[in-house]
Amino acid sequence: MTIEALPADLPTGLLVGGEWVSTDRRIPVVNPADLGVLAEVGDATVTDALGAVAAASDAFPAWAAAPARQRAEVLRRAFEIMTAELDVCARLIALENGKAWRDALGEAAYAAEFFRWFSEEASRVEGGFRYSPSRDKTIITDHRPVGVAYLITPWNFPAAMATRKLAPALAAGCTTVLKPAGETPLTALWIGQVLERAGAPAGVVNVITTSQSGTVSEAVLADPRVATLSFTGSTYVGKILLDQTARRVLPSSMELGGNAPFLVMEGADVDRAVAGAMVAKMRNGGAACTAANRFYVHESLSDRFASGFEAALRALKVGPGIDQANDLGAMVSVKERDKIVELVERAGSEGLDVRAVSEVPSAGAFLAPHIVRGVQHGSVLTSNEIFGPVAPLVTFSDPDEGIRMANDSEYGLISYVFAKDAGEGLAIARRMESGMVAINRGVASDPAAPFGGMKESGLGREGGFAGIHEFLETQYFAVDL
Ligand code: NAP
Repeated sequence: MTIEALPADLPTGLLVGGEWVSTDRRIPVVNPADLGVLAEVGDATVTDALGAVAAASDAFPAWAAAPARQRAEVLRRAFEIMTAELDVCARLIALENGKAWRDALGEAAYAAEFFRWFSEEASRVEGGFRYSPSRDKTIITDHRPVGVAYLITPWNFPAAMATRKLAPALAAGCTTVLKPAGETPLTALWIGQVLERAGAPAGVVNVITTSQSGTVSEAVLADPRVATLSFTGSTYVGKILLDQTARRVLPSSMELGGNAPFLVMEGADVDRAVAGAMVAKMRNGGAACTAANRFYVHESLSDRFASGFEAALRALKVGPGIDQANDLGAMVSVKERDKIVELVERAGSEGLDVRAVSEVPSAGAFLAPHIVRGVQHGSVLTSNEIFGPVAPLVTFSDPDEGIRMANDSEYGLISYVFAKDAGEGLAIARRMESGMVAINRGVASDPAAPFGGMKESGLGREGGFAGIHEFLETQYFAVDL
């Protein structure tokens, strides 16, 4: 079944101060499955972006002072609207991002859950009351919203990365300016509209789309009315932004790149590991910061694992994500697809056994799943974030060596460990240098869990109990009672 049309009332302007504003210049949004133009969206200038900052700043005092229950109810209504319209959200994701329908629908549901989780968290922020050890004073701690939050999101999860930031920011009492990625603005604009329908007051949620993300973001971050940055994207851009936020000592939450290892230990159940590998590698066509990027398999299991994994990859049907019959959609753009093709070609010139396991449609930004056996740790495929359906397999014999290779990366977002049981898995997990470890399963993300990385994978945590604190400032009152 194929569902094509965009919603008739989909806004394509900028959302500023409760108004949808049109701009002189427009940016085309391309469907990567056929390279046709889906829509055109506004192209914000620095002036437009600072208008959004002004709107967010004007709306901040009332929103920050609103009872938490009131903010929670807006978020709860947003959850209910999104849940009732998951197919609309999934359609936008599948059309502009290219991912398979099942992944798009899964993302839409995951994205909606951030509204539910943070609607619940909004009224659970605790302060503190205690006596100092010397008893000379009372220590009261309170948390208050930091102010206007600038939120920058990537193209790979156009809905979930937006709600994972908007929901905690709004729950905390911050007002927001959201800037989605150039490739995938439509889902973000729709989410802005959902929040409007849910009753977010004018100026509390602003959405700007721009072709000049560098210039616009630098101006926004230099504006004294902006109090915090929450960024999800590449480590490369994250470092540029950290440099800019350092100039004003702005708090910054950074969800950056990954290079996740997938360890299969000697006692692991191979079928379970293959099923986990399919999810960890192929969810979102491999374009996930959490995607398993390199597979380290004990030598006693490596042939069975490789054959099982290859057979499962071969069974995937590749084609437009909007067609529900397909398991693997298009990459987000020809440019992103070609980056991966280049990596694969470099792997081939390293003498690696690179196998494309299926045919793909000739038009559009498609890439067949690839499996690469006999890879040495340190290859171009283990040292780069591939961000696509290419699975390099490395064999090890000594478990400590497997763990050492898995940790040998500047990234530390997530690791996958398949072991004989949960006890062994947990013992290995404690040795992994990553903010998250999935044990005997292929996916870890959950709105109720703290998502984030160690090393160059980022700073701070999103989701869970920690997520709201990225948007709160702690204040301490010393009191003589
Ligand atoms: P990206 O190139 O870093 O872009 C991310 C966002 O930053 C986009 O909105 C982009 O806008 C904007 N941007 C680009 N250059 C900028 C600049 N100089 N100043 C300010 N903003 C700028 O990343 P991507 O290619 O979209 O996403 C893939 C990366 O994101 C991967 O590395 C992946 O691992 C990471 N990621 C991490 C997580 C996590 O939670 N840790 C989750 C998802 C993705 P334009 O598109 O308009 O240029």
